[in-house]
Amino acid sequence: MGKNVIILAQLQEIDLKIDSSRGEKQSLMEEIAALEEKVEELKRSVAGYGADLDTVEEEKRALEENLAAETEAINRSEGRLREIKTQKEYQAVSKEIAAAKKVKTELEDQVLQKLNRIEDLKSAIADQSKVLVEFETSASSQESELKEKVARLETAITADLESRETTAKLVSPSMMKRYDKLRERRQGVAVAEARSGSCLGCNMNLPPQVFNSLFNADNLVPCPHCQRLLFLRQNEQDAQAES
Ligand SMILES: [Zn+2]
Repeated sequence: MGKNVIILAQLQEIDLKIDSSRGEKQSLMEEIAALEEKVEELKRSVAGYGADLDTVEEEKRALEENLAAETEAINRSEGRLREIKTQKEYQAVSKEIAAAKKVKTELEDQVLQKLNRIEDLKSAIADQSKVLVEFETSASSQESELKEKVARLETAITADLESRETTAKLVSPSMMKRYDKLRERRQGVAVAEARSGSCLGCNMNLPPQVFNSLFNADNLVPCPHCQRLLFLRQNEQDAQAES
């Protein structure tokens, strides 16, 4: 059997290892990104409550200003009452005071509502902040573990790329091209083992003449079903030689 296909099989072993390391690295990076996103989400939630709190406090201050103005107006009117001479005028000012007091009560209710809302928001901020701190602590230890794994994978990938380069030098450029194209079209597997008369790339039976040609052909033999380049393991060749 041609030694080229054996080299391609070795190359593919390295390539599949690189593919799997890269896939693993990708999913670790996604895990890291998800942790970071969750931290950001919690921060946004705390900030959102904080912004709501600012708004409600501002609204409460405005209500309190109105309330103070209303109280002052009532006091002024009540002062006037004592100096009023006619009944008609007395009634008019009394009516004014009653209306102002009604407004004042409504304002007081509104201020109370704002105070309750402020309490709720403050406790929500405290709760969310606690959740954030706890999550950040666990996320940062998870993240450093994940980053360590990524670093180990990167080291492995670098080493595999070096041995790939060495192995690729043994293959002619035209064969490399064929190999790369096949890998692209066949989910990364361009070279497939032939065993017991089948192609392990597509699990189809090989015609006997194709299988037999693997034992002596010096050329590349493609699987007639999936076009992957076929190779035999040494033990299969030995087994065939003994029989
Ligand atoms: Zn096949």
